[in-house]
Amino acid sequence: MVKRVFIVDTSVILSGKPISLDREMYTTPLVAAEFSPGGRFYRMFQFLLEAGLKIKKPSKDMIEIIRRKITETGDRLSEADIELLALALEFKGEDISVTILTDDYGIQNTADELDIAYQGIEQRGITKKFKWIWRCQGCGKVFMEKFTVCPICGSKMKPIPYDIKSLGEK
Ligand SMILES: [Zn+2]
Repeated sequence: MVKRVFIVDTSVILSGKPISLDREMYTTPLVAAEFSPGGRFYRMFQFLLEAGLKIKKPSKDMIEIIRRKITETGDRLSEADIELLALALEFKGEDISVTILTDDYGIQNTADELDIAYQGIEQRGITKKFKWIWRCQGCGKVFMEKFTVCPICGSKMKPIPYDIKSLGEK
């Protein structure tokens, strides 16, 4: 089976919708650095990491390819944008089906040039709607609301994304 991954940018993380249940989700160290301890969105980002968001740094070679490409296209991209594109290129080279989730025009345009798939987060039907549920890491009981520790056995709780459709909502 072909492995399928999403790569998410900062705005997508901030949208609160970067979790897919059927694909692995990645972002890069420079994006992660925007969610530093003490910052407003630090806890939300930690949540996403616990829910399975992975951080991966692309190789220097891939970053160089992206730098050369944007010199041709004239797109103005931040270092974080370049890293995201480089990671996408790296996955593509490993025969992994990769899609960048971003609303950034510069990233989308460069992705186009490199034949990398992308999707805007605001586009309909792109990201699955989900809600958080909490599962006890001790007794395994699942709760629809947040508890710091399990009300039954007192173990740590772990947030997991849950597909709203399977909860019978729209
Ligand atoms: Zn429990």
